[in-house]
Amino acid sequence: MPLAAAAIPERLATVYRRGQRLVLAFDYDGTLTPLVAHPSLAHLDPISRAALARLAAMPRVAVGVVSGRGLDDLIGMVDLAGLSYGGSTGLELELAGERLLSIDALENRALLNTLSAALERRMAAYPGAWVEKKPFGFTVHYRNAATDCTEALRTETLALLEPHAAGLHVLDGPLALEVVPAIERDKGTALHAIVAHGGAEPATVLYAGDAANDAPALAVAAELGGIALGIGPEPPPEAVYRLPDPAALGELLVALAETLTIAHTRSNVRPHSENRSENTIPICSKNPRGAHDS
Ligand SMILES: [Mg+2]
Repeated sequence: MPLAAAAIPERLATVYRRGQRLVLAFDYDGTLTPLVAHPSLAHLDPISRAALARLAAMPRVAVGVVSGRGLDDLIGMVDLAGLSYGGSTGLELELAGERLLSIDALENRALLNTLSAALERRMAAYPGAWVEKKPFGFTVHYRNAATDCTEALRTETLALLEPHAAGLHVLDGPLALEVVPAIERDKGTALHAIVAHGGAEPATVLYAGDAANDAPALAVAAELGGIALGIGPEPPPEAVYRLPDPAALGELLVALAETLTIAHTRSNVRPHSENRSENTIPICSKNPRGAHDS
């Protein structure tokens, strides 16, 4: 996999100069921000936030952030208006200010709340384990539980979920079990929705993500002829390009904002400068050198 960054701003600027729209979408944790001990500590770097805001304000550029976090949590962390957001791994969307919820997800919410409450009571027996509730699912975290309890904790959790298996997806996370409704929504469907919301004209799409749940969105970006950008040491195999860490992505965002601003300015001023040069040539030819030579 090539280390990509340098060529990406120019590639996007080239199509942008031709008048094409751009969709730039990013995962949050591990992509826009470094992975940290607790999700509440994953703060977005102000320089990256400013670059995202600058990109989102440009004509023909849509910026999206897509995450496993609940939608309100995600929007609170990014804290930028004018973006599109996909929360709960695609189950909740906010597209340029308009909220869209999956009806199926709403129907599953009562069951998920009951199961998460039951598991919260069971986890009291495993010090360090905790249940993170999300709007449409929950995660059992056991990274801080004693390792000799892990097997029993997992067995007990999976046994409690088993009778409801048909309605649930249980995903193995890093020292966690993530439980979401068995609905065909993922970061790929969220990215499709963000692209479609911007209009029917073709778009060049960039998606950046670091983990297995980014694979569908990376695949969508590649299928659409765009840029599938993996972040970190081991991005999913669907990534065609790679950057080493979120800091490198932050630098790319700054460079991209700069390059696209120049591309936009040039595409705006070109007709005027061409007119001016057409006017200038005859005036100069009628007035050769004299003023400068004297
Ligand atoms: Mg991530």
